[in-house]
Amino acid sequence: MARANAAYYAGRDPFSDFITAPEISQIFGEILGAWCVVAGTRLGGPAHLVEAGPGRGTLMADALRVITRAAPDFLQGGAVHLIETSPRLRACQADALRPFPVSPVWHETLETVPRGRMVLLANEFLDALPIRQFIRTSDGWGERYVEGGDWRVESLHDAPPELAVRDADLDDVVEICPAALAFAEAVGERLVADPGVALFIDYGTARSLPGDSLQALRDGRPASPLVDPGSADLTAHVDFEAFGAAAQLRGVRNFDVVEQGRLLASLGAVERAAALCKNAPEQAGAIRSGLDRLMAPERMGRLFKAIALASPGQVAPPGFEPDGAPFSVTGQRSSRNDD
Ligand code: SAH
Repeated sequence: MARANAAYYAGRDPFSDFITAPEISQIFGEILGAWCVVAGTRLGGPAHLVEAGPGRGTLMADALRVITRAAPDFLQGGAVHLIETSPRLRACQADALRPFPVSPVWHETLETVPRGRMVLLANEFLDALPIRQFIRTSDGWGERYVEGGDWRVESLHDAPPELAVRDADLDDVVEICPAALAFAEAVGERLVADPGVALFIDYGTARSLPGDSLQALRDGRPASPLVDPGSADLTAHVDFEAFGAAAQLRGVRNFDVVEQGRLLASLGAVERAAALCKNAPEQAGAIRSGLDRLMAPERMGRLFKAIALASPGQVAPPGFEPDGAPFSVTGQRSSRNDD
């Protein structure tokens, strides 16, 4: 899957196969921009703004519109760093960020992002990372592979150490995502070395559970993950419990997973939508239906979840406070619609 997805992202426009939250509504990136300002100013000085898997650059552009107006000093001395492997998407990101007074720097991994204070965002990045699937067999565990367009199961002596679910029933599939766990560890190490905060939003489960979640989308429709690797987008549910635990082991603070609908509500998305509708009444229907798609529990509001990590000693970032203290960005006037 690793090579199949790298080929997919490098060679195709993935956004013809699926649509992500920032592409649905500008409110998503704007709200996260305000989140960066609030969480970032608590770090005590300018910070690097980092995004992992920025896609078309829409989230970062929407966030920067808020950041550059609300807190122009936020990025001084820091910079925008984009972790992206696809040359094609790097070019899209460069176009999207051209209107802003920033010079983005691209990276293959977090390791080359310079040390220093950091605010990191990642939306639908972890689900694109390759998974491994294990199957509970009568005599232990097997690993499931795709070979020649079919599944093959190879018996294992022992369960792999990263396997979070060990009491699975016979024939249950349990997934691990070594690249996501490695990313959690790398972010964890960073946040212990330098002050920072990181926010990951993705679809998945708050707890580690068995289940085969590998999905392929080709031309916007579900397809077999076994056929013609590299031509379809492959994703899997994120195991937020395992991800948070891997980061926490490095010594960072790991806040309780929050559903996307609740996070957006507590960050003021509804008020933001009302302000946008007032400025552009002719677009009110589209604005409201976009937000509904992101927030409604039966749409993206519940399946999509967010996890926040922060340096030791940092307070809970907006939306992750245990008492659910409200935080609002109402009053930010800048937007795609009223520019
Ligand atoms: N965040 C965007 C795009 C999500 S698609 C949005 O919300 O619209 C996943 C993104 O992760 C793409 O930009 C893809 O090229 C990138 N990506 C996938 N695997 C990666 C890897 N191993 N390292 C860095 N970026 C990767």
